[in-house]
Amino acid sequence: MDADLVVVGGGLAGLVAATEVARKGKRVLLLEQEPYLGGQAFWSFGGLFLVDTPEQRRLGIRDSAELAQQDWFGAAGYDRPEDEWGRLLAQAYIQFAAGEMRAWLFFLGVRFFPVVGWAERGGGLATGHGNSVPRFHIVWGTGPGLLEPFLRRVEELKERGLLRVLLRHRVEEVLVEG
Ligand SMILES: Cc1cc2nc3c(=O)[nH]c(=O)nc-3n(C[C@H](O)[C@H](O)[C@H](O)COP(=O)(O)OP(=O)(O)OC[C@H]3O[C@@H](n4cnc5c(N)ncnc54)[C@H](O)[C@@H]3O)c2cc1C
Repeated sequence: MDADLVVVGGGLAGLVAATEVARKGKRVLLLEQEPYLGGQAFWSFGGLFLVDTPEQRRLGIRDSAELAQQDWFGAAGYDRPEDEWGRLLAQAYIQFAAGEMRAWLFFLGVRFFPVVGWAERGGGLATGHGNSVPRFHIVWGTGPGLLEPFLRRVEELKERGLLRVLLRHRVEEVLVEG
């Protein structure tokens, strides 16, 4: 049970965290309560919020990080002091989605259906809530297709002895000392 890092939950977030750290040479233990990895992403449609991509441009859709933030904030509001972390998370995600996210996923082997969907379109205008342009990039193979490169990395890192995965292991308490 000894490890440099213990990751609780083998959904996409846990898989990315565990594999990125293990790839840097740290020994990681991944605990997942279910008998399989992937969490909700396994069942998901695999439509990704990406901004200003080749798929959008090919369809004549003009998008930008500024427009995406205006749309997102139009829906979320973020007008209370306690919304600070949500606002920062949204800004960081939008920068990622308009920046290296697509290239990173493409490098990992993820491919996209050429027609971009228009999910959560809200009022349909850039002045209100919801996506004012199509941004829903559907992964070939849907959710399992998105998981595939991360699960492959898990297997590689297990073979190199850097990652241990324990399925059917539920964390019940986190002990905090010092
Ligand atoms: C049917 C469906 C369709 C969806 N479609 C889309 C879509 O098209 N586009 C989109 O962007 N999003 C979609 N989503 C949402 C998206 O899949 C999730 O937001 C995302 O996968 C969440 O990833 P996560 O790693 O944060 O959490 P999760 O996937 O929930 O992973 C958490 C993991 O932690 C484990 N866990 C929890 N507690 C413990 C514990 N105490 N000990 C051990 N393990 C624990 C859980 O079993 C789970 O495997 C969809 C979701 C569903 C269900």
